[in-house]
Amino acid sequence: MRVRDRIHTDQLPPSYYAATSNYPDGFRRIEGNERAEVCVVGGGYSGVATALALAEKGVDVALVEQNSIGWGASGRNGGQILGGFGPELGEVDGYAKIFGPAADTMWQAGVECVDIVRRNVEKYAIDCDLTWGYFDAAMNKGHMKDLIETKSALEGRGFPHALELVIDENISSVVGSSQFVGGLINNGWGHCHPLNLVRGEATAAAGLGVKIYEDARVSKLEYQGDSVVVDMDWGRVTADKVVLACNAYLGNLVPKLANRMLPVGSYIIATEPLSDDLAAEILPGNHAVCDQRWALDYFRLSADKRMLFGGVATYLGLHPKDLVKKMRPKMLKVFPQLKDARIDYHWGGYLSVGLNRIPQIGRLDERTYFAQAYAGHGVAASHGAGQMIAEAITGDDRRLAMIEAVKHRPFPGGRLLRKPALVAGMAIERLKDFAGF
Ligand SMILES: Cc1cc2nc3c(=O)[nH]c(=O)nc-3n(C[C@H](O)[C@H](O)[C@H](O)COP(=O)(O)OP(=O)(O)OC[C@H]3O[C@@H](n4cnc5c(N)ncnc54)[C@H](O)[C@@H]3O)c2cc1C
Repeated sequence: MRVRDRIHTDQLPPSYYAATSNYPDGFRRIEGNERAEVCVVGGGYSGVATALALAEKGVDVALVEQNSIGWGASGRNGGQILGGFGPELGEVDGYAKIFGPAADTMWQAGVECVDIVRRNVEKYAIDCDLTWGYFDAAMNKGHMKDLIETKSALEGRGFPHALELVIDENISSVVGSSQFVGGLINNGWGHCHPLNLVRGEATAAAGLGVKIYEDARVSKLEYQGDSVVVDMDWGRVTADKVVLACNAYLGNLVPKLANRMLPVGSYIIATEPLSDDLAAEILPGNHAVCDQRWALDYFRLSADKRMLFGGVATYLGLHPKDLVKKMRPKMLKVFPQLKDARIDYHWGGYLSVGLNRIPQIGRLDERTYFAQAYAGHGVAASHGAGQMIAEAITGDDRRLAMIEAVKHRPFPGGRLLRKPALVAGMAIERLKDFAGF
């Protein structure tokens, strides 16, 4: 089932990213039958990072994407590059609780997934405006207390990048907004042009021999003998293994995976380029910023100094009728200085979230691998997922076995009732935000 609605067409959304893509040429359509050792379904970070990691290990890979590379969340997101798998990295106890004896390995994987992005960009000279510097912004004393604890937990655990607390009057050196009382700078995380990242990685993968096909919607998987036949409108790929990297856009292809995650809408507006003075006033250090609420605002400057402001979470496929009308007041609440800035672009997309908010990475059987449900923190984590899947396919499944041991329950009531169940849960979280818990 294709997702088609107000924010999803066959084309890339009319985003700032699509307008500034360095990769206007797409990949060809599949026609006829192909053979590959591994067929990856889905051309976002999960699929492309897996394909690239496999190709680097000499595996023969075909990657099929129903629209174009980066059409999904990977070409639409806020571009904020954060580490971690599930719990925040500062929640060291959270890792122990979820992963048990594998906690250290998974915590380390949560640090290293950012390094994979860094390495790919450097190794393949991907022009995607990669910038280091991230800021967790506190709106109240409670948030600030949590961030102080986060800093000492990260440092105690050996986090390898510089962290810096910013308190009270110093806040204007990072964010020019009266909404925040302080926060935590993390110099190991940052931001990038997300569509150019995924398309740059796909181009690198193609350079290593990955056969990439666009306009290749998989409608069926058929298991024949030792092979999987991946069926599309214009052709098919017969492979030894298949990797399902469709995330929120999986539809009904594999109900067992679809039942365990829910598509959540998130939306972004982009202003016109700001003057140097205004840009330096609102984000002097050019950090990517997230606030600490459950339904958070996230924002940053683009390379040409536009404010990219994202937020809002919708759970029933009900996108705001007028995205600018919904998002602009939120931006002006944080930055009243932008009252005269024209909005040049607005768009949205689906991320996916599971009940326990831990990424779902593993195997359905010995031939079928999957990665999905990064709960809004997928830019780096999807790269970690790709690495673990590639390791497992090439014979070392230790890390994949650790993360796939986490159980993911289906949403109560299956596909029909999963949305109301989650909406109820999220309403409670929003109330907590509102009450400042
Ligand atoms: C508006 C927005 C803002 C976000 N901001 C951030 C952020 O700042 N930082 C962060 O870390 N995360 C962010 N996220 C989340 C992040 O973008 C995702 O977690 C990540 O991109 C997931 O990558 P993916 O490859 O798993 O999925 P996707 O990028 O969604 O890719 C899945 C692909 O599978 C394809 N597909 C689906 N079904 C089929 C089929 N049957 N046949 C062929 N192809 C198929 C789709 O067309 C799609 O291209 C945001 C998400 C959104 C929507």
